[in-house]
Amino acid sequence: MATIHRGGNVDLLSGKVAVIGYGSQGHAHALNLRDSGIEVEVGVRAGSPSADAAEDAGLAVSTVGDATRGAQVVAVLVPDHVQKGVYEQEIAPNLEPDSALLFAHGLNIHFGRIVPAAGHDVVMVAPKAPGHRVRELYESGAGTPGLVAVHQDSSGGALELALAYGTAIGCGRVGLLETTFAEETESDLFGEQAVLCGGVTSLIKAGFETLVEAGYQPEIAYYECLNELKLIVDLIYEGGFEYMRYSISDVAEYGDLTRGPRVVDERVKETMRTLLDEIRSGAFARELFADDEAGRPKFEELRRKNAGGQLEQVGSELRALAGKEGLLGADVHGVG
Ligand code: NAD
Ligand code: MG
Repeated sequence: MATIHRGGNVDLLSGKVAVIGYGSQGHAHALNLRDSGIEVEVGVRAGSPSADAAEDAGLAVSTVGDATRGAQVVAVLVPDHVQKGVYEQEIAPNLEPDSALLFAHGLNIHFGRIVPAAGHDVVMVAPKAPGHRVRELYESGAGTPGLVAVHQDSSGGALELALAYGTAIGCGRVGLLETTFAEETESDLFGEQAVLCGGVTSLIKAGFETLVEAGYQPEIAYYECLNELKLIVDLIYEGGFEYMRYSISDVAEYGDLTRGPRVVDERVKETMRTLLDEIRSGAFARELFADDEAGRPKFEELRRKNAGGQLEQVGSELRALAGKEGLLGADVHGVG
């Protein structure tokens, strides 16, 4: 069983926390820390539009270097693909020898893109929710669950420090699940590739195309293969497979049980194992970062190739027809 921590000693955060980046996670962490009584300084790029937002929220704002100087904890909350550059150019030269470094995702540390010197605690506190949710729930007195991990424990108190931070941003009110940088990074990449983003869009696309190519109306195919997915996922989210199967008709359930395993069969699972191998060997990360460093030629070509298309066309027509809340159900923006 996983170790789940509740609560943490917020008083351990007696110094300044530098929150680097004021985006989805950055704004939520900065505001929640501040409201938990912790000294916060937000570090942003010169001329960044988020500097105004942070100042309007009453936060102390400065450059990345100035925020880093004198901080007890430096929370690195800029996008993953720029973290290495920001770390090398602006954080590392200004970092106190005993400052702790905190990440909300393990990618750069786990794959060795950022290698902090000995002397720094290196920890992760990763809320399992988008930033606006982290802020919203904190304000309502609750919190989002989170993951906590220690990569380097120089002080001997790295876990306690991470739990203090996790509690100050609200996750400790619900639960901080202990993991490792390796487990968080590898499972996160696998989930988004095989199931959540890659798997689900490819499944929808294959189903949609199969119906349309067989002569069914695209609008009907869209409802069946995409729009109704939200209803099914909502049921699964609420009560698992059993609750979903209890709610659907016997005809649907029989089709599910007999045909589902033929769609996602042993070959698909073999491919999933290959994807996982590529993640664990670092091959995926090397490919991603090499493309990024070359100015993203492959990424941009894939975006162009996947833009538009009949499915998107039908979707936008149906949404326009429906208005925001009509024909396509309560949440046309998707599964949240
Ligand atoms: P984001 O894209 O929302 O925000 C990043 C901020 O960094 C923006 O304010 C941007 O202006 C700033 N920024 C961009 N480039 C910069 C640079 N070169 N120098 C200084 N500032 C720069 O990022 P995010 O989604 O909050 O992600 C931050 C971290 O949190 C990542 O490690 C991510 O994996 C992790 N995370 C995100 C979520 C989420 O829901 N978004 C959830 C859990 C963990
Ligand atoms: Mg992810």
